Amino acid sequence: MLRLPPFRLVVPKTAREAARILADHGPEAMAVAGGTDLYPNMKRRQFTPKVLVALSGLGEARGIAGNGTLTLGALETLTNVSRHPLVSARWPAVAASAGLVSSPPLRNAGTIGGNLCVDTRCTYYNQTEFWRASIGYCMKRDGDVCLVAPGSSICWALSSSDTAPVMIALGAEVTLVGGDGSRRIPEADLYGRDGIQYLAKRPEEVLTQVHLPSRDGWAMTYRKLRRRGSIDFPILGVAAAVRLGPGRVVEEARIVLGAVHTHPVEASDANDFLRGKVLDRETIEMAAGIAYKPAKPLDNADLSYSWRKRMARIETARALRELAGLPTGDLPPVNPS
Ligand SMILES: Cc1cc2nc3c(=O)[nH]c(=O)nc-3n(C[C@H](O)[C@H](O)[C@H](O)COP(=O)(O)OP(=O)(O)OC[C@H]3O[C@@H](n4cnc5c(N)ncnc54)[C@H](O)[C@@H]3O)c2cc1C
Ligand code: SF4
Repeated sequence: MLRLPPFRLVVPKTAREAARILADHGPEAMAVAGGTDLYPNMKRRQFTPKVLVALSGLGEARGIAGNGTLTLGALETLTNVSRHPLVSARWPAVAASAGLVSSPPLRNAGTIGGNLCVDTRCTYYNQTEFWRASIGYCMKRDGDVCLVAPGSSICWALSSSDTAPVMIALGAEVTLVGGDGSRRIPEADLYGRDGIQYLAKRPEEVLTQVHLPSRDGWAMTYRKLRRRGSIDFPILGVAAAVRLGPGRVVEEARIVLGAVHTHPVEASDANDFLRGKVLDRETIEMAAGIAYKPAKPLDNADLSYSWRKRMARIETARALRELAGLPTGDLPPVNPS
């Protein structure tokens, strides 16, 4: 059995206090919310913090409220987010993506804030300490080379959050609280461009709230690809949202791909292409052909990277078809290889 390494647990009452404790202890401290990702990672010695700052006491990071807009407390569980009537009715892709994370027990403990901050993943890294030692480690922890792309100066571990692509597609913002104050930034700016420094926030900043603008009049969806119907992290996520005008003309489109890069990837060229066009089969095929190009899956997740890349095109087409009210089943199947 894998055991947790020793650590000291502190339970602050406010986010500012939590940020100050994190800042005081530097790299020796980490925040923990539901612990569904952090604790397994600690058991594998991917992280060995001496101090864990439990966020569970932060009242300011709880609650789901809204009318035209929506505010989600970062400590709300994925179950609460996925089942909340307001979220399901007005931001259904948020509810769907939260409801597709892992399995029911992990959704009961895992939080929306933890999901947005969840570590990047790689088959050479999400392994026991014994396994990683046997191959000489990699630069995400204890080594100095990337085992997937040995000439690379960056780590290519994959952004694997189910909810992050949806939040970005819907234009969400997050509140970050530091030791001296708070700031609100677009969710898209939360992510860095390296699998090690995958969050662009300061290490001590605590995410307390997620803010979603009104998306009334938009159609939205999230499609997740994984080997099994439960438990598995995404090997591809497609978040898509469109505002259609009369005659199914696209007024605005937002497509974001997950699990294909170190960060969620906005398909900006496809979004530009779609604007002003009728959302019919032909347009959808062309948009999907543009959208999948920035996907950069490498050989560090389940199934082959070439298949995952091809599926990015197909799943984008399926997502857009869903939004257009067209059938999704008649696209050519692509067998995993
Ligand atoms: C078997 C298994 C399957 C999984 N499948 C999926 C899946 O399909 N999809 C998916 O997206 N995830 C999956 N996960 C990962 C995880 O369960 C979820 O991402 C979950 O939402 C993480 O939330 P948490 O509250 O448990 O985060 P924690 O484990 O507590 O923390 C995760 C990270 O976020 C940081 N953090 C947490 N909250 C905050 C905050 N408010 N402010 C700043 N930093 C914070 C922590 O320091 C840590 O680095 C899986 C995990 C396991 C073990
Ligand atoms: S992408 Fe490279 S550096 Fe990053 S975790 Fe995988 S093997 Fe390690």
